[in-house]
Amino acid sequence: MPLLLILVGFLWQCSHLEEKPTPTTILLSLDGFRHDYLELYHPPHLSQLKQQGAYADALIPTFPTKTFPNHLSIVTGVHPGEHGIIANKFYNETKSSLYTLSDRKQVEDGRWYLVEPIWVKARRAGLLSATYFWPGSEAPIGGLTPHEFKKYDDSIPNIKRVEQVLQWLSRPLAKRPKFIALYFSDVDSQGHKFGPEAKETKEAVLHIDQMVGALWQGIKDQGLESEVNLIITSDHGMTALSEDKIIPLPEWLLREDSPMDDYLNGGAFLQIWPKPGRHQELFNQIKPQHFQAFEKGRFPKRWHLNENPRIAPILLVADLGYQFLAGQGSSSSPARLAKGGHGYDNEQKDMHGVFIAIGRDIKPAHLKAFSNTEVYTLLTNLLNLPSPRFSDQEALKALR
Ligand code: AMP
Ligand code: ZN
Ligand code: ZN
Repeated sequence: MPLLLILVGFLWQCSHLEEKPTPTTILLSLDGFRHDYLELYHPPHLSQLKQQGAYADALIPTFPTKTFPNHLSIVTGVHPGEHGIIANKFYNETKSSLYTLSDRKQVEDGRWYLVEPIWVKARRAGLLSATYFWPGSEAPIGGLTPHEFKKYDDSIPNIKRVEQVLQWLSRPLAKRPKFIALYFSDVDSQGHKFGPEAKETKEAVLHIDQMVGALWQGIKDQGLESEVNLIITSDHGMTALSEDKIIPLPEWLLREDSPMDDYLNGGAFLQIWPKPGRHQELFNQIKPQHFQAFEKGRFPKRWHLNENPRIAPILLVADLGYQFLAGQGSSSSPARLAKGGHGYDNEQKDMHGVFIAIGRDIKPAHLKAFSNTEVYTLLTNLLNLPSPRFSDQEALKALR
């Protein structure tokens, strides 16, 4: 676990030798920022932070490589199969209610979220936390939200979000949040609309870079650069889509007498429910072309979904760049119009995101690609919160 050995080893020295108060940790998400956008588009501020701080070759998302599942994995340290947000749109265990990110009532209903995120852990430990958008932060999870949070509103200009974070940081120490989350969606939306290598996506990367620059400059202007830790992440990458890589659902599947009862999603994957007693008949009839078909219990282990009661018994996963047109598609941009997409197998490099960290407790380092579930362990250590998985690591125990 190179991330922990390198970064946390340094943290250990700090906390034991210098005994400084817990600094503020800012967790930033650049939705849909692919791991190689730094080399493709040379955003100046992010590149400078990467040079001065720690960075990884990539941040590996969990499957499905969608926004809500991965944001929850970053703040809980577990896979979607465990934290419960298994897609942007999914049914509950009994298929009696539907979670979808456009339904505010569901997004704000804490019962969907099965594992407490970092801000709840922080709150239980008496630390103040504040979020300017993060999937899950509007719901009381285990009965608790962050102390301050904003209801998601895409139209709030990014600079306003940055200004609010800087205002939180300007508070006297006793009132200053120890954990802050911040979220920008532009790179994802432009990536969907125009494709990962379009000039509009480059412009979005450069705009978001300006925002990161404004945030870091504001931190410096307040003399706080050695009193905060800034962790920059993205939830997944983006791959180019084209109209000649469409997977239509076969006509027999949609007929009245079909063995299929129901389906959900679209784009990179489809969840499929067979009619009672017709599972095998349905599965045998599916002829994968430009996609793979999986039965629950035989999903690749790396997806950690085999035991999950919410996922469908059959899952169809498109090959990279192909898309299912059936289903509801992505909430933000219908699959039909999209030039970029994500949601594919998390082994696909195009699905990988970014990780850059800088600040008081971060030692400059170049790390290999690692799973985004590890970010949680880093956060718990930066916030001096107990981390069961950290103490489980024999190699790390030796550091204590
Ligand atoms: P997708 O690309 O379909 O995985 O989802 C990305 C979309 O999620 C973005 O375009 C955002 O508008 C939306 N989104 C992000 N955070 C929230 C939130 N807290 N509540 C509702 N929608 C959100
Ligand atoms: Zn996303
Ligand atoms: Zn997206």
